Amino acid sequence: TTPLVTDAEIEAGRQAWLLDRAHVFHSWSAQDQIKPMTVLRAEGSHIWDGEGNRLLDFSSQLVNTNIGHQHPKVVAAIQEQAAKLCTIAPQHVNDARSEAARLIAGITPGDLNHVFFTNGGADAVEHAIRMARLHTGRQKVLSAYRSYHGGTQLAVNVTGDPRRFPNDYSSEGVVHFMPAYPYRSYFGSTTEAEETERALRHLEDMIVLEGPQNIAALILETVPGTAGIYVPPAGYLQGVRELTRKYGIVYIADEVMAGFGRTGRWFAVEHWDVVPDLLTFAKGVNSGYVPLGGVAVSEAIFDTFRERVYPGGLTYSGHPLACAAAVATINAMRDDKMVENAARLGEEVIGPRLREIAARHPSVGEVRGLGCFWSVELVKDRATREPLAAYGGSSPAMNELVAELKAGGLMPFANFNRIHVVPPLNTSDADVLHGLEILDAALDAADRHTN
Ligand code: PMP
Repeated sequence: TTPLVTDAEIEAGRQAWLLDRAHVFHSWSAQDQIKPMTVLRAEGSHIWDGEGNRLLDFSSQLVNTNIGHQHPKVVAAIQEQAAKLCTIAPQHVNDARSEAARLIAGITPGDLNHVFFTNGGADAVEHAIRMARLHTGRQKVLSAYRSYHGGTQLAVNVTGDPRRFPNDYSSEGVVHFMPAYPYRSYFGSTTEAEETERALRHLEDMIVLEGPQNIAALILETVPGTAGIYVPPAGYLQGVRELTRKYGIVYIADEVMAGFGRTGRWFAVEHWDVVPDLLTFAKGVNSGYVPLGGVAVSEAIFDTFRERVYPGGLTYSGHPLACAAAVATINAMRDDKMVENAARLGEEVIGPRLREIAARHPSVGEVRGLGCFWSVELVKDRATREPLAAYGGSSPAMNELVAELKAGGLMPFANFNRIHVVPPLNTSDADVLHGLEILDAALDAADRHTN
């Protein structure tokens, strides 16, 4: 149905690539060591690269385009909003923002009834922490190692992964704890129940030793994404909720990646019946068609700012184009039952198929996930669980595997020793199965590097 990419488009892509190399400064990269891929177009679950090859998007562009590319209803909503009102300062009311807030308040759990809009995930994290500090009058923030919360100053400091800056600045009051991670337990656990119990005991010890009277917030990705899509063991999140309540700490659930249907529920906390005090979101809220993020705020925290000024805001808070895209996205997800489809894909297609693949390839240490949010963790040795690339690093084996995936027609989301399987939630069963076949074949390259 989509016309073939023309020679003129390919030539324009070539020019764009040259200009990119001359003038674009890429994030998280050594500028001369990267060979960025040109993307000429996208539609649904596919993109076309600079040579006109069609690739299946198993990355959702950093786990972002939950509804796939160029959804016609969302594109039309952006166009209609652009024709009417492109921008307005955040202190004024606009209908797109009002409706987006109403829809988000309606799908977030519990009494998260108020929405503070931001431009993306990192600034949502920064604002959530500021709200918690003002609400509690406390300063410290607890966050997990093996987490990702964003690339701005405070967000990168609460992030718990090894990508430290050479002259790192630290933000006052940020304290990291060890998460529950059954596959690589920090607590020597051999069962999930043991991991839950020990990880919670460690967390409570840390709270007591840091002084609960000083701790404003605990921030936790409900299912940590960039750090390996490791699903928390049963009871862990309920335990975290209880501890934060016991010590008067604001619980911030970071659902920038896991939210908006990705795990097969509107928000991942629903799997464990947990309601946080603040919930950060971005990405899936409008599938990234226009930058948007935000914080969903409970009644109690909102009350703090009824008579007291909330000090902070952004010129583009609740941008009309972004909010119009959010309204159309949430409605399209509802109309097409995409959240239900994600749950079904996880249970009936991705999970079972990945487990079969894992059984065939000695390089697969573990597969885990929910909905359209899965990770394949690769190892050199299944017995020792030695990773195929260090956490925070790369390896020839992983580079080879990624090259094989691309050659097979797949656009993967790979980092360190993991291949994430995170297609759009409305990808067809046939496309998902085809992508998993490509993965199955490419894993032979990783197997050659096992002990
Ligand atoms: N929190 C989480 C859980 C994320 O996955 C990300 C982005 N990957 C962020 C925060 C930061 O979002 P952004 O890149 O939009 O600032």
